[in-house]
Amino acid sequence: MCLFCKIVNKEIPGNVEMESENFLAFHDINPKAPVHILVIPKKHVDSFNEVSPEMMAEMTTFIQDVAEHVDIKESGFRLICNVGENGGQEVNHLHWHVIGGAKLRFPHLTDADPKDFL
Ligand code: AMP
Repeated sequence: MCLFCKIVNKEIPGNVEMESENFLAFHDINPKAPVHILVIPKKHVDSFNEVSPEMMAEMTTFIQDVAEHVDIKESGFRLICNVGENGGQEVNHLHWHVIGGAKLRFPHLTDADPKDFL
């Protein structure tokens, strides 16, 4: 069973902020900003590559509710979904990082020279 399925099943503790029938929002163990919450479907989905449009639609509403609940909806926040190896996905259970509570920087995302992208 994957790490996040274990949190869903309460086999390992999660600092849960919000829960619905199909989704869970809990605090990232290694926060990158004052607010750093992970939103996952309770049903195991490996990554964004496998999520259905129906589940994504429902998850969108849940993420909006989480942002409102933790009071970052108006001030703004960032949604990140790392996908696969190049995306830096470490836990193979679909999750959205909901990050805010401070003005966020937009860092360089690779070691490559940005001039090479032009
Ligand atoms: P990613 O690199 O997109 O797969 O992100 C995985 C995230 O899960 C990282 O930000 C980790 O800090 C976080 N994480 C790993 N283990 C736990 C845990 N037990 N509880 C909460 N967050 C975790």
